Amino acid sequence: MRLSRYFLPILKENPKEAEIVSHRLMLRAGMIRQQSAGIYSWLPLGKKVLEKINQIVREEQNRAGAIEILMPTIQPADLWIESGRYNDYGQEMLRIRDRHDRAMLFGPTNEEMVTDIFRSYVRSYRDLPLNLYHIQWKFRDEVRPRFGVMRGREFLMKDAYSFDLDYEGAKASYNRMFIAYLRTFERLGLKSIPMRAETGPIGGDLSHEFIILADTGESEVFCEKTFLDMPVPGTDVDFFDNAEIASIVERWTTPYAATDEMHDEAAWAEIADGDKVSARGIEVGHIFHFGTKYSEPMGATVAGPDGKEVPVSMGSYGIGPSRLIGAIIEASHDDNGIIWPESVAPFGAVVINMKPGEEACDNWSERAYAALGEAGVDPLYDDTDQRPGAKFATADLIGLPWQLIIGPRGVKAGTVELKHRATGDKHELDLDAAIARIT
Ligand code: ATP
Ligand code: MG
Ligand code: MG
Ligand code: MG
Repeated sequence: MRLSRYFLPILKENPKEAEIVSHRLMLRAGMIRQQSAGIYSWLPLGKKVLEKINQIVREEQNRAGAIEILMPTIQPADLWIESGRYNDYGQEMLRIRDRHDRAMLFGPTNEEMVTDIFRSYVRSYRDLPLNLYHIQWKFRDEVRPRFGVMRGREFLMKDAYSFDLDYEGAKASYNRMFIAYLRTFERLGLKSIPMRAETGPIGGDLSHEFIILADTGESEVFCEKTFLDMPVPGTDVDFFDNAEIASIVERWTTPYAATDEMHDEAAWAEIADGDKVSARGIEVGHIFHFGTKYSEPMGATVAGPDGKEVPVSMGSYGIGPSRLIGAIIEASHDDNGIIWPESVAPFGAVVINMKPGEEACDNWSERAYAALGEAGVDPLYDDTDQRPGAKFATADLIGLPWQLIIGPRGVKAGTVELKHRATGDKHELDLDAAIARIT
């Protein structure tokens, strides 16, 4: 992409409304625009990052056996009346009337709707396990939308729903998502810690929030240090070997980790002070087993091996891709701007032409731009006539992994400068070597 033809509305000033660094940098880098409290437009750079996150989320869901669908944002109230949640959900739900005065709502989550899909088609235990997910906008009329996309009112969620014949099956489905989440967050460059979370009236121990430690997090969390360097399961995990996945989950749930609602002072006191982390955290994912909470009232049953009809045992599994962008920036930035992990960077590199209009600089820059494009790096080419200082500031702000700087002096000497954004390392190289380094 040529920057001169792109839409990258950079802000020079720090926006006053942004209280935390990720919100500030997203606005400054021209990623989002607020349209109403907690409601954002996604500008080109933001949209690209969001899609990259979605793709990683999707790949890991698929790997774990979940199947993608797409349910609508607008739902009929009837389903929620059936499950008994219509009145309970409260003010976070945006209720809508259509022209026929039918009660509708903008979905804050999709348990009811997916249960309706399930009960319409699935009849036998032989069709289980089944896990359906979608990546769709949600609306929750949060009391305090804040921190940009971190706590929006309209936000993106990947929500998966598992269906099993019994608790044992449901637990295996839960374990598959547990491992998929560890892998997803690692691929996004984040250290996530699964923490015991509230199960509500369902009880049991199958509810974990995946938390990223960050000073600006809204949750108070407690965990053992050992989590910080536990190796995440690789691609070789057999998601359908129940013993294997159970032992991985066991390993990841044995050290202490809990959010403040589940915090157990007595258990905490047993841990040596040097092994404790008590910090703030961002909830980026949440997995939850709720059994027959919806299948029973909504009549989602299957015939078991003995021919008897039983309500299916369910779980739900959420990840917030839009909140994740904020979390990634909170975890990875410096005074000059964002430092994208390679896996989600909106472009792989920026080619900075220091002197557009000068033939040699143009030639070299075009060559680099074409070569990087061919190599699949998806480069941004700064061909604008901004001054060098402004170009460097923009490059640092938008945080692409590599900056390939092409100026008249270097070209004369046969070199370009390659800067690595994360480390700040700079090297003078010949053009081909620089390209080879990036690709
Ligand atoms: P929170 O405790 O932050 O309000 P939640 O527990 O209500 O979140 P869940 O219902 O568990 O959220 O939804 C699953 C995921 O959706 C969360 O883990 C989070 O990543 C994302 N999410 C929830 N609410 C928001 C929001 N207002 N803005 C952005 N992402 C959100
Ligand atoms: Mg909430
Ligand atoms: Mg929560
Ligand atoms: Mg939650």
